[in-house]
Amino acid sequence: MDLRTLPARYVARGTTDEITACEHCGRPNLTHTVRMAIIGPDGDEDGEMFMGVTCAAKMSGRPVKDIRTEAARADRERAQAIRDGWRAWQDAHHNAFIAWRDSHVGERATAPDVRVWWDANREAIDAWRVAYEAAHPKPVERPPGY
Ligand SMILES: [Zn+2]
Repeated sequence: MDLRTLPARYVARGTTDEITACEHCGRPNLTHTVRMAIIGPDGDEDGEMFMGVTCAAKMSGRPVKDIRTEAARADRERAQAIRDGWRAWQDAHHNAFIAWRDSHVGERATAPDVRVWWDANREAIDAWRVAYEAAHPKPVERPPGY
């Protein structure tokens, strides 16, 4: 069997409104396109095309409804992964800061002491934050509103 003669499969990996022309038929000014991963005969992803949903359905030989469902699921998973990544970064940042603060101010410091320390150490706190974020860059993609 010659694997090269098997047709490529197309899998919807989500939608984007950054590319609004169909790469299949050239139709411009779509509200969004579907990112269709091209799966080669060996099962590996072998490139991608951005298409209107009608062309995506035609190319993959599947109903439009299935393409929409698959793309919507991929969008949800991607949004969740971005939220998870952001939350993990925030948690790590918070924990690192608390550990650093406690090593300076004392873990059992009472609230007024923390406030005094905070006011007296504004520059050091800012420097810590800059150094931390240089070593642990914020995720490139953030949830809406961040
Ligand atoms: Zn098209």
